[in-house]
Formats: sequence, structure tokens, C-alpha cells
Amino acid sequence: MTQKTLAVYGDFNCPFCYALSELLLDAQLDDVFQWRTIEHIPGADCDVFTPDEQSQLASEVYNVRHRVPDLDIAIPPCRTNTAIANRLLLIVSQHSPEKAPLLRRLIYRSLWVEGKDISNASVLLALLPVINFGSPIDPDELSQEQHLLQAWQHGWEEERFEGRIPVIMAEQRYLLGLALLEDIQHFLNGEEVSGDCALNCYVKPRQNIAILGELRSLWGFVEMLRHEYHIHLLQSETALWEQIKTDHLPDLVLIDADALKRHSLKLCERLKRDEATRSIPVMLVADHIDIDDEVKAYRLGVSDFMRRDSSPEVFKARVDMLLQLKVTRDELERAARLDSLTQIYNRREFDRVLLQEWRRCARSRTTLSLLMIDIDYFKDYNDHYGHLAGDGCIRMLAHSMKNAVERTSDLVCRYGGEEFAILLPDTCAKGALKVAHNLKRCIDELNIAHVVSEVSEHVTVSIGCCTLRPDTAGDMLKLVSIADQRLYLAKKRGRNCIVGDEDA
Ligand code: GH3
Ligand code: MG
Ligand code: MG
Repeated sequence: MTQKTLAVYGDFNCPFCYALSELLLDAQLDDVFQWRTIEHIPGADCDVFTPDEQSQLASEVYNVRHRVPDLDIAIPPCRTNTAIANRLLLIVSQHSPEKAPLLRRLIYRSLWVEGKDISNASVLLALLPVINFGSPIDPDELSQEQHLLQAWQHGWEEERFEGRIPVIMAEQRYLLGLALLEDIQHFLNGEEVSGDCALNCYVKPRQNIAILGELRSLWGFVEMLRHEYHIHLLQSETALWEQIKTDHLPDLVLIDADALKRHSLKLCERLKRDEATRSIPVMLVADHIDIDDEVKAYRLGVSDFMRRDSSPEVFKARVDMLLQLKVTRDELERAARLDSLTQIYNRREFDRVLLQEWRRCARSRTTLSLLMIDIDYFKDYNDHYGHLAGDGCIRMLAHSMKNAVERTSDLVCRYGGEEFAILLPDTCAKGALKVAHNLKRCIDELNIAHVVSEVSEHVTVSIGCCTLRPDTAGDMLKLVSIADQRLYLAKKRGRNCIVGDEDA
């Protein structure tokens, strides 16, 4: 297959990629691009599809419908494993490139229109007669790893697109997210495209394993892990701490205890003492294991101690288990702070940060502002469009609010139901009002249809703002209650408006 400089990284599991695939095919722009299939969620499995993932999928479909209203799309039963579909498309592209676009369309539609299980080889093979593909395909060929697919997957992961998919690539320029045709044309003409194509899709990132030791003596183990995880080989302890400081934290640290000699336990102790690294599982590998050392290691918090001559399969199973535990732990930590529908902070995190910022602003004698935001006529929205659409709408607004605030210290959270709170530290009344107006403009620009609203044809919000100068004796709940009263006032004044300090 010829390598085109124009390419799309797309996934069968992603409704945004499906929409883009249809747009390109309809516009007959398809042969301009090389379609590089990748997997957002390598090893996706229908059996472990959680309710949160279901709601995320429903919301993605809602977003796609909002962006491409004519697209034929239905919520499929789950996200399936796409490895075989990717291989089939690649094999057909190599034999008969002209038939590949139609096959891609059929695979996408099998999942996104008909809700079929495209992880099933017989579902896929049944599509071949439809494209008049005559050469028989050996099912064994479908189960083999394909070098080119791996190269595309690594290419996409290494560019760090921040989980944004689909990606259109032209030379060294990228258009991220689901772009519409007009934007794609501008992009192809070399123009900058800013629009909000950055709708995010669910991506499960690969986990990182930091390995401290010599590659040669650990190769048997590394070989087992390198296809599934990002491996960072580090030559020294200093390099490990450097990586911890600068890059993403590893999800597992594997230490060759023979290479570090007695120092390895000291390193484990330090890793388990340090706040930043405490929750990272540590695994030791050694030629021989002295019982005292093993006991000491477990007492320090090391998760596993393995002999170098252990079976690589057992080693891999233990690493997988530790990394799965790490995922669960990280998810629990995140879930305690985030709202599951919108992935912005939850009420509990709001209460925690409010107390912290109130005290900090009191010490530094600065002002603290709060915006309380409520969607207008949202009960009617749900009644008219259904609760799933309501969820999708809440999610889009949350995403837009997060993008509308500028400072990293600003905290956007879901206060409850269809109400949001934005805490703006070190911000005066004028600044808070500016943020509120900007926020309203962003929500207006989303232009989400709301035909049963009494104030507008699209979804709108009312906002109450309050700014106080905290002092340690003062009551921080005053900030919430005043902002809330002003939100109530905004509702009374007809909704779709802002009430700040000066207007109250
Ligand atoms: P107002 O303009 O006065 O704010 O009217 P409203 O209809 O928005 O106000 P009300 O507080 O009466 O209704 C809020 C509605 O928001 C009720 C509930 O159905 C809906 N809602 C709250 N949380 C969720 C949610 O998580 N998902 C969905 N779909 N709807 C929600
Ligand atoms: Mg409300
Ligand atoms: Mg409301």
C-alpha cells in the first residue's frame, strides 16, 4: 500500500470516526486520505462494559447526532473488540485497495446502524461478497498481528493527541476531533482551522511501566509486556526520579534487585514513603531471593518479588493483575472527586476546595468569586427530548464551561442536577462578571436546540455571581448563599441572564 502524506487515524469503535468516514465517503474525498485504523481501547471487551461506559457511549452518540444531524446512527449494545475488523480491512486494502472504502463503510454501519458484533469474524466475513471480494481469506490470517497496524497504533499514541479522535493528518499538521467538510477543505488548503472539532471520545490509555535495570537480563519479561504497555527503560535511580518529576507517573515500577544490590530495598522504601509515588506498585526481580529480604520487601510495601527464572507467562499474569489493581485504585480516587456523568469535579470536591480557597484568600487578603449556574427550563428539555438527551446536554455544557475558564486555579464543578458552580480564586467582581458573560456566550454558541424553552430556541442558562473578601472569622457559606439568591433573582427576571454584585 502506498503511504500517503494525508491520513486519518480512525477507530471502528468510535462514533466520531464513523461520522467522519461517512462524510469523506459522501464527499468522494476518500481516496485523498489513507485511512489508518487504530484502537482507542485496545482489547475492548463487551463483557466488561460498565454502566458509566454505557452512559459515555450514549452521550458520544448524542454529540455526533448534534454535529451531523443527517447521519444514520443508533447506540450499539457495547464497544466491541475491533482487532479482527482492522485486520480484515488491511488485508482487503492490500489485495484490492479500491474495495476497501466500501468495506470500511459496511463495517462501520454493521456496528453503528445495525448494532452487530463486529468482533465476530463470521459477521465480518459475510460482508466480503457484498463488496465482490473474491479471494478467500484464511481465518488464521485474521488472527495474526499485523505490523502495519501496530505501527499506526504507535504513531497515533506517540503523537500524544490527548485522546482526541479522529485525527486528520497532512504533513506535520493535524486536525483533531470530528471536523465538518468545510473545515476539512480549509485544512487541506493549508489554512488554520480553529473551530470546536475537539469533541473527545473515550480512550483508554496504555499504562506505563518503568523498568530499572539492564535490558539484556530482563528481556524475557520485557518481551512479554512491550506490546501492551509503554515501557520506559531507565538506567539509574536518578533517571527514575527524573521521570517521576517530569513525565507521567509510571503505573508500575519494576526493579532488577541484582543490578541495584542492597540499594534496591532503600529505593523501595523511598518510593513507598514519597507522597507522589506511594500508590505505585513496585515489583522486584532477582536471581535468588533471600527470605529475609523478601519479608523486608513486603513489609516496606513492595507488591511482588519474583525470581528471574520464573515463567514469563506467570510473570505477565502477575504484572497484569498489579496493573489492573492500579486502574481500580486510580478510578476510585478519581471517582471520589469527579462527577461520573460529566467528568468535571463533584460537589464534594467543591466543598473541599471552597474551604481551602477561602482560607488562602483570607491569608493573602484577596477576593474570591463564585458563579452559580442553572440550565433554564431543563425539566421541559427532558420531557421533550428524553433523559438520555438531557444527560448529553448536561455533558456538553460541562465541557464548554471547562473550556471557557482560563486559569488553572478556577474550579468548575457540577453542584447537583443541572446546576454548576465555578469558583474563581483571586478574582474581583468585574472579573467574575467577565467570566460569566464569556460562559454564556460559549453556551449560546453551542446552539443546542430547545424548542420548548420559553426564552430561546436553544439551551440557555441563568447565572448568579458573588464576590467576597474572605476573612478567617467570616462564613464561607455566605458566598454560596448570596450567589444562589442572585441565581434565583436571574430566574425571576426572566432567565437567560446574569445577576452580579452591581445588578443585585
Ligand atoms: P428553571 O428554568 O427554573 O431552572 O427550570 P428547570 O425546569 O430547569 O428547573 P427544575 O429545577 O424544576 O428542573 C430541573 C430538572 O433537571 C429536573 C430534572 O429532570 C433535570 N435533571 C437534573 N439532573 C439531571 C440529570 O442528571 N440528567 C437529566 N437528564 N436531567 C436532570
Ligand atoms: Mg435547578
Ligand atoms: Mg433549571
